[in-house]
Amino acid sequence: MAATIEGVTGTWEYVIGLEVHAQIISNSKLFSGASAAFGAEPNAHVSSVDAGMPGMLPVINLACIEQAVKTGLAINGTVNTYSVFDRKNYFYPDLPQGYQISQYLQPVVSGGFIDIDLEDGETKRIGIERLHVEQDAGKSMHDQDPLSSYVDLNRSGVGLMEIVSQPDMRSPEEAADYVRKLRTIVRYAGTCDGNMQEGSMRVDANVSVRKPGGELGTRCEIKNLNSVRFLQRAIEFEATRQIDILEAGGSIDQETRLFDVGRNETRSMRSKEEAHDYRYFPDPDLLPLRIEQSWIDGIAAQIPELPAAKRDRFMSEFGLSAYDAGVLVAEQENADFYEAVAEGRDKKLAANWVISELFGQLNKAGKGVEGSPVSADALGELIDLITDDTISGRIAKDVFADMFETGKGAAAIVEEKGLKQVTDTGAIEAVIDEVMARETEKVAEYRGGKDKLFGFFIGQVMKASGGKVNPKAVNEILRKKLHG
Ligand code: ADP
Ligand code: MG
Repeated sequence: MAATIEGVTGTWEYVIGLEVHAQIISNSKLFSGASAAFGAEPNAHVSSVDAGMPGMLPVINLACIEQAVKTGLAINGTVNTYSVFDRKNYFYPDLPQGYQISQYLQPVVSGGFIDIDLEDGETKRIGIERLHVEQDAGKSMHDQDPLSSYVDLNRSGVGLMEIVSQPDMRSPEEAADYVRKLRTIVRYAGTCDGNMQEGSMRVDANVSVRKPGGELGTRCEIKNLNSVRFLQRAIEFEATRQIDILEAGGSIDQETRLFDVGRNETRSMRSKEEAHDYRYFPDPDLLPLRIEQSWIDGIAAQIPELPAAKRDRFMSEFGLSAYDAGVLVAEQENADFYEAVAEGRDKKLAANWVISELFGQLNKAGKGVEGSPVSADALGELIDLITDDTISGRIAKDVFADMFETGKGAAAIVEEKGLKQVTDTGAIEAVIDEVMARETEKVAEYRGGKDKLFGFFIGQVMKASGGKVNPKAVNEILRKKLHG
C-alpha cells in the first residue's frame, strides 16, 4: 500500500485523524452499579439508571475514572484536576435517557502522543488531542422478529474512553500502527481489553485528502470500524472516492459514512452533525469532577513498564533487533515469558528460540503463551543444553518439537533418545575414519586441491553419527586427518 495516491492531476496525500472508543475494564457501569460484563442474556445487566427511568440519579464510578487517568498517563497526556460531564442530546431508540453523558469542553485528559513505526525504521509521533469519558449506548436488535425491533440495554451506561488523535497520520499503515500501538498500551495498563471483534475497541476514521503540504481538506468520518484491516481498507477507499470527486471539479460534503465490508466501499449515513446540534450542556445531576494531584501520582506509580519502554530496553540492554523486540513486547504475557527464558542466559539465543520455535509452534496450534505446553523454565533448560554443548542446535529443534508434543523435559528426552552430543575425540575419529575409508576417491580429489569437498565430508560425518557429533570438534579433526 502506498503512502500517497496518484490522481490525474498529480499526487495526493492522505490526512487521517482517529477517534477511538475503548471500553473501560470495570466491574460496574460508569454511573450505576449494574454489571459491565460482556455476553450476558439481553437486559440482564440493566439498572433503572441505565434504563433512563425518570428521577434516577447517576453516581460516578470512581474505578472508571481511575482507569481513564491511568490511560491518560500511559498515552503521555495531562490529567486535568477539574473536568466536567456534559449531556450530549440526541434521540436514538437504544439511548433511553435521550442524551449521552459525555465530556465536551473540559475533558479529564488533554494532550498526549503515541510514537508509531514507519516502514523505513524511523518513528513518528502522533499527537493526541484529548481523552474523555462517556457512557456507551444500548443495542437495537432488528433481526429477532419480522415485525418488531428489540433493544438490549446491557451496554447502556458502560464506561467508555474516547481517545481523539490529531490529524497527523499520512497513510492507512500509519493509522493501523497507531491503533495497534494504542491497543497494546491499554492492554498493558489493564484499562481496556482491546478486543475489537467484541466491540471493546472501535475506531472512527476521519479522512481527507490534499496536495502534499497544502491546506487541510474537508473530511468525512467513517464510523465504527472494528478491525485494523477494515480500517485500512476503509481509509483507502474513502481517499480514492474523495480524489475522484475533487478531480472531477466537485467538492466534498462533510458527512458521516459507514464502511460496507462486503462491497468494500463507504456509504453516506448522515451529513455531519456539528457540536451545536447536540445542545451540549453541563449535566445538572453531576458535580464537576475534581481530582487530587496526589491521587493521580498514586495511579502513575501503578503503571507497569509500557511497551515502548520495554522495547527500548530489550534493544539497548539485550542487544535485540527492533523487529524482534517489537514482536516480543506486542503482548505483555509474551514479553514476560521471554524475560523468564532469557534470565541468566544468552539474550539473543533466547529471543530466537521464543520467536522462531515457540511462537511458530504456538501459532500452528492456535495457542497463546498462557496455554504453552513448554514452560519458560523448560525452554530455558533446553537452551542450557545447547550452551553447554550437550546437544547441537540442530538436535535441539527435534527435542523442542518432542517437548511441545509430550510436555516432557529436555534432559529427559535427550537421555531417553540418546541424543547427547559426542565430544569424545576417539569416537569422532572413528566416525571420520569410517567415512574416509568409504570415500577414498573423494579423499584423493580433496587432497588433489578440490577444497570445496570439505563440506561434503562434514555432511557425511554428521549423517553417519546421526547429527550427534560436536560440529566444531569434527571440523578440527577432519581437517587434520585430510591434510595428514
Ligand atoms: P468534531 O468536533 O467535529 O468531531 P474534531 O476537531 O474533534 O471535530 O476532530 C475530530 C477528528 O477529526 C480528530 O481526530 C481530528 O484529528 C480529525 N480531523 C480534523 N480535521 C481533519 C481533516 N481535515 N482531515 C482529517 N481528519 C481531521
Ligand atoms: Mg470530536
